[in-house]
Amino acid sequence: MQLQHSRDFSGRDKRGKLEALSALCGELLGVDKVSVWTTCISGNSLNRVLSYRRESGLDNSPRNLGREQLGDYFSALSAAEIISVEDVSSDPRTLTLSHCDGDGGGVASLLDAPIFDGCRLGGVISLAAGQRRRWTLADIAFVTAIAGCVSLINSHEAWLNSRKELDYVTHHDDFTGLFNQRALRNHIKRLIEQSSRALPEPFALLWIDIDRLNAINNGMGLHVGNEVVSEVAARLRGMLLPGKELVARVGGDEFAMIYRFPKEVGTMHGAVDAILEAIGHPIMVGEQKVQVSVSIGISFFPYDGDDISTLIRHSESAMYHAKASGRRQAQYFNQDISASAKARFLLESQLADAIANNGLSVLYQPIVANDGQRLVGAEALVRWHHETLGFMSPAEFLPLAYEAGLIAALDQWMLERVCRDIRESCRLEVALPPVAVNLSADAIMDPQLSDKVWGMLHRYQVKGEQLELEVIEDAIKGDSRALRQTLEELVRMGIKLSIDDFGTGYSSLLRLKNLPFTKLKIDRSFTRDLPQDVDDCAITLSILGLARGLGLEVVAEGVENQEQEAWLQEQGCDYLQGFKYHQPMSIERLRELLIPA
Ligand code: C2E
Ligand code: CA
Ligand code: CA
Repeated sequence: MQLQHSRDFSGRDKRGKLEALSALCGELLGVDKVSVWTTCISGNSLNRVLSYRRESGLDNSPRNLGREQLGDYFSALSAAEIISVEDVSSDPRTLTLSHCDGDGGGVASLLDAPIFDGCRLGGVISLAAGQRRRWTLADIAFVTAIAGCVSLINSHEAWLNSRKELDYVTHHDDFTGLFNQRALRNHIKRLIEQSSRALPEPFALLWIDIDRLNAINNGMGLHVGNEVVSEVAARLRGMLLPGKELVARVGGDEFAMIYRFPKEVGTMHGAVDAILEAIGHPIMVGEQKVQVSVSIGISFFPYDGDDISTLIRHSESAMYHAKASGRRQAQYFNQDISASAKARFLLESQLADAIANNGLSVLYQPIVANDGQRLVGAEALVRWHHETLGFMSPAEFLPLAYEAGLIAALDQWMLERVCRDIRESCRLEVALPPVAVNLSADAIMDPQLSDKVWGMLHRYQVKGEQLELEVIEDAIKGDSRALRQTLEELVRMGIKLSIDDFGTGYSSLLRLKNLPFTKLKIDRSFTRDLPQDVDDCAITLSILGLARGLGLEVVAEGVENQEQEAWLQEQGCDYLQGFKYHQPMSIERLRELLIPA
């Protein structure tokens, strides 16, 4: 008891403790040899951990005993028996053991106690006497206590290990092996606690977000996105930056770094450049070269916040600011950012509310045939009537919807509303032409999109032919089998697909040819200066030629005047859309237009 509670003892490692206990046993009981054995995982053999001889001291040479030779001995141990034997050569439990024990031999009596390790037999502590000895009750009690003590040491070790494991799991991100958000918070908390109010020790929190990871996931596949995340993690971890203290992964594509002692902002600049540069080298995923960048937001303790949440919030909003100013750059937090972050947060939650509670509305802009008269379709355009800001154009709030991850929900709301309007028009016996709905990249990548659309068509008893979907070029770049499948399922329902804002993005001819699109919409920026601008004329002509070659129809957007119309008609553009014909209008107005009074 005294030994176990001495500071010297508790500070030792497991082997050290076993050595001390064996020596104590040898001395106090006056036995010739004390050895400690552990069972292997299967429980079929015993391995000697150490043996202590009174004359010669410790001996760490390994020995091994198998169950097959020592059946009775093993059975007794498993039954938690204390094996107290006066004459080794006559007791069935130790008979074979006396033949096996070749290390010095000469054992007349044995006193062995099983050691338990949680729920299994963990080993045995064995006392051997060279002369025959009748073990007393005190001997037995003593060795039992020692065996119990070893069991306790085993349990403690197991507990420590599991705590280490648990600690690892709760503080690390298992995808990248970096620290996680919890570890980051703990670390910041410690830094803040260490720092004194009178003489604060400043540090910087860098919030690092991969630019356009969504586009990479959508365009090149999720496996490429995953590779990018783990490579960025590896580069951030591997960077040799004086002052770098901890790197954590705090979200899907977000990382955080704590940077110490940035006393002069100059050194901070250097660190930021180094990060941007390290991430800027192309990442190879298989044969593909992927160009990646990050946006970084930086807040300083204690100047930009003296508690964890404020520091994190501020570095995060600075990061959003860096993104909004063109990505691939760093932004230091300042009070303007704070104000705009608050406003943004408010607007985001109001938009979410509008989507959920029918706070949006739809306007329809008619599309006419080449003759500039016949109404052949309409495009549904979303509107948001904001309480204080009034009617907001999609150009103002769609970027917000994208960043807040609300865009797919918005598109779905639109689809549903348009289906309802089609159904209602049908009930009023007004035949609407096909209505085109805009779909964001997020919505088109939703693997459940075709099921959802199918559900809506069914619910509102709308035919697929009454609906068209427009997606921008960039939403379909890259190769994805899932996208193709979604598009084909939509086409099978009778829905026509068009590529919106054609000419502004990137799409290979091959993609155009292989995906089931039937229409191109020429972006307004090309029609605007027709026919004066020769470049725009050339681009429009080449789009028309391309479409003809691929058997696609063409809609010109943004037609505002007579000259544009005449030129487009002459070049054989199939459909026209713009203020020259109609402004976007309510469904009621559209119906009136369709049944002239
Ligand atoms: P878009 O798909 O290119 O839609 C046409 C835009 O051009 C509309 O702006 C329309 O009002 C405007 N426009 C039409 N004719 C003319 C014209 O002759 N002159 C001029 N200057 N403009 C004309 P709007 O409604 O502000 O929509 C802007 C963009 O917002 C749309 O561009 C579309 O990309 C997006 N959008 C609109 N509704 C939705 C929606 O429900 N979901 C998604 N994902 N995007 C939408
Ligand atoms: Ca459109
Ligand atoms: Ca467009």
